[in-house]
This record gives sequence, structure tokens and C-alpha cells, in this order.
Amino acid sequence: GPADAVLSVLDLTAGYGAAPVLDRVGLDVRPGETVALLGANGAGKSTAMRALAGLLRPVDGAVVFDDRRVNALPAHQIARLGLILVPEGRQVFPELNVVENIRLGAFGRGKAIDPAEIERLLDRFPRLRDRAQSRAGLLSGGEQQMLAIARGLMAHPRILLLDEPSLGLAPAMINALYATVAELRDEGVTILIVDQMAALALTVADRGYVLEQGRVVASGTAAELSGDKGLEAAYLGAA
Ligand code: ATP
Repeated sequence: GPADAVLSVLDLTAGYGAAPVLDRVGLDVRPGETVALLGANGAGKSTAMRALAGLLRPVDGAVVFDDRRVNALPAHQIARLGLILVPEGRQVFPELNVVENIRLGAFGRGKAIDPAEIERLLDRFPRLRDRAQSRAGLLSGGEQQMLAIARGLMAHPRILLLDEPSLGLAPAMINALYATVAELRDEGVTILIVDQMAALALTVADRGYVLEQGRVVASGTAAELSGDKGLEAAYLGAA
């Protein structure tokens, strides 16, 4: 991939058993870019995110992060280098309160937590401020998604991987979340985002890749991919 990429994925093959889900996937993300990984249900988007984060060991290929090949590293070391996954389904700790969940994001980054940083995150997500002392398990799905993103930001990501942030959320909540993603992009956070709602993801992305049955079948700027009616019908599903 290009020398200036934060993340370069080369011929990545990965899966769960005999048949690989991902077949020689390649993609690059440069500093400050927001890149969308698109595709229908089951195309392999979450599998790719898990493989990049070290939660699933690639069978073949390379994941190069900040010029370092990371695909043999355990997930916690990859996270420590700054590749931070906000997983599908949020996965907050339901018994811990909102602030405790946020603080956990700093675990492993090796710096003391500045209380002002937590304040800034609560400013960014006012709904979380209102519920700062509530157990995370009591939050709505959208609030849990905000919490998962806040926790990810607490890790000081070099790249933030967002897996299906809109999953199962009401339209108003999806709009609020995407407004936050757009803000993060504008602030220069480097983002790789997966969403089944392709048109939505392309509203915040600079570029995108389309996965079909584990292969990259198209890539381009967000404008190119948005304007491609054939792609929309064939791969992206209804948006
Ligand atoms: P979705 O939006 O439904 O999550 P996706 O594009 O993210 O779709 P994946 O979740 O990566 O797709 O799934 C790709 C393929 O891998 C599917 O055929 C799925 O059934 C299979 N798969 C996913 N997780 C596992 C698992 N833990 N064990 C076995 N097969 C799995």
C-alpha cells in the first residue's frame, strides 16, 4: 500500500473454518481519512474488522499498521498501538456505570486519566452526561453506542474502527451518531467505518470499498460509489 497509509491491508484471507470468509482483501487508510467498508449482510465486513483488530487470526496476507506488520500480534497489543475497535453490538460493561465504562478505554494506553478529558467526552455526548452514574446496561441502544465510541476515543486511537454503529437504532439516533462521526472526521480522527446502510456511511466517508462474498469488488471516492447505481443495486442493498 501507499507509504503514507496508517493502515494497509494486503491480500487478507481469514475465516472461521475450512472455507475462508475473506478472500485476499486489500485496502488502505491514510491519516485523517474516513473510509467506509460496505457490503450486504454476510459479505464479511465484521470478519474484516475482527481480523484487523487481532480478534481473529488471519490465515494469510498482511495487516500493516504504522509500517509495522501486526497480524501475528494479540488483540491487546494491537489496541495498545492505537488500532481501536468499537465492536458491533457495542459490548459495553452492563454492570459498570457510564463513567467507569469510559475510563476503561484508557486501560492499556499507559497514561494517567485527565478528568478534563472525561469532561470533554461528556460534553460531546450530552446524553451520556445526563446518565454519567447510571449502569450502562440501563442505557438505550443508541446511548450504549455513544458510550462505546466514547470509550474508544478514550484510548487515543491512531485509527478508530466503527462496526455497524447504526445497527438496531431509531432514525433520530442514527442521525445523531452520524453527526458525531462527521465531527470526529472533521477533527482529523482517522476512521474505518462499516455499515450496512451504505448511503449513510458514504455521507461521512472520503472513500469506500465494497465487499461481496469476502472480496473487494469495487472501490472509489464516496462520490463515485454513491453515484454508481449498478453498485447500489448489486451489492449495497437498499439503503
Ligand atoms: P453482518 O452485517 O451480518 O454482520 P458482515 O458483512 O459483517 O455481515 P460477517 O459477520 O463478517 O458479515 O460474516 C461473514 C460470514 O462469516 C457469514 O457467512 C457468517 O455466517 C460467517 N461468520 C461470521 N461469524 C462467524 C463465526 N463466529 N463462526 C462461523 N462463521 C461466522
